[in-house]
Amino acid sequence: MTGKMKLFENYSLKELNTFHIDVKAKRFIIVENVNELKELFNSSELSAVKFLTLGGGSNILFTKDIDDTIIHLSFNQLSELKSDDNFVYLKAEAGLIWDDLVKYSVEKNLGGIENLAMIPGTVGAAPIQNIGAYGQELKDTLVEVEFYDLIENKIRCLSNEQCQFGYRDSVFKNELKNKFIITSVTFRLSKNPVPVLNYGNVSNELSKSGIKNPTVKDVSNIIRKIRTEKLPDPDLIGNAGSFFKNPFVEEQILQQIRKKFPDVPSFNQENKIKIPAAWLIEKSGLKGFRKGNVGTYPNQPLVIVNYGNATGTEILEFAMFIQKTVLEKFNIQLEPEVNII
Ligand SMILES: Cc1cc2nc3c(=O)[nH]c(=O)nc-3n(C[C@H](O)[C@H](O)[C@H](O)COP(=O)(O)OP(=O)(O)OC[C@H]3O[C@@H](n4cnc5c(N)ncnc54)[C@H](O)[C@@H]3O)c2cc1C
Repeated sequence: MTGKMKLFENYSLKELNTFHIDVKAKRFIIVENVNELKELFNSSELSAVKFLTLGGGSNILFTKDIDDTIIHLSFNQLSELKSDDNFVYLKAEAGLIWDDLVKYSVEKNLGGIENLAMIPGTVGAAPIQNIGAYGQELKDTLVEVEFYDLIENKIRCLSNEQCQFGYRDSVFKNELKNKFIITSVTFRLSKNPVPVLNYGNVSNELSKSGIKNPTVKDVSNIIRKIRTEKLPDPDLIGNAGSFFKNPFVEEQILQQIRKKFPDVPSFNQENKIKIPAAWLIEKSGLKGFRKGNVGTYPNQPLVIVNYGNATGTEILEFAMFIQKTVLEKFNIQLEPEVNII
């Protein structure tokens, strides 16, 4: 081990994943800056070892103890790179808590990520699945991603376009899978914010509050209110947000479903038809369904919750039961959004 890197053995991950699964990592290393990361991968010790990067553990389901090494990045500086008449460019290091970045931008009245308020986790994980909520996605404001390339053993940058963002998708889940550690992300936020209000009940909630010309702060406060009412707080009930992605379906499947359910909701994204997975789960009779320690959350059936001391395997089996039931009923295969380890 080099420098002042912190290494722990047989380290409990219970408080480091939002499902609160009680597993241990054989080795857990906290890396405090990019140079330490470089040193780590240049040391013969780690070059041969398998490892996993862990941020806030809010998009991960552990089903077993981790025999590999876990790397956790603690560097979290935020710096303003430049600013012009219209935009401010911010560079955020990977370990920064995502919602702290949202709060900072809201305080400065900068627009672009206010609808992504209250998404748990770190900046470093955010590009991997192109986090999104309430009509905004990370890709709308992301300029570039800096990462450590584990194949070429050096720091590299990818532009927004090179990241190949899609719905909960990016190059990091495909070609670059397991070949990178994200070290920072640069954003371009607007000094003349245009609120995005056409998703869910955002505009309803705003009009209920009597707000006519909402500021960035008003919008983010409304999002916080909606999310608090709808989603379980992982500190109180273990969960990882939406367990499944909303499936893309063929027009013909939608038509078939419409025969039986004329009110089936659907929307277009990336020129494809999507049906909300929450609706499919609800219509399969699984809203608020519970088996032992695991269940779907009554207010939002797309969220699988750990009501007690569930194991990762119990949660995985429950998720597979949901997949099977939805497949049998609708002929649609749900795909997990959560990373299953
Ligand atoms: C209550 C709740 C609500 C949520 N709501 C939303 C939502 O509205 N929209 C949404 O998109 N997501 C949502 N999520 C999912 C989650 O918050 C995001 O996916 C988040 O970006 C995960 O960040 P993390 O740091 O916790 O990642 P982790 O769970 O620690 O890691 C996720 C994946 O990224 C990898 N990883 C993490 N950091 C790095 C890094 N620096 N370099 C390389 N790989 C890395 C991990 O190995 C893992 O494969 C929600 C989760 C919860 C619990």
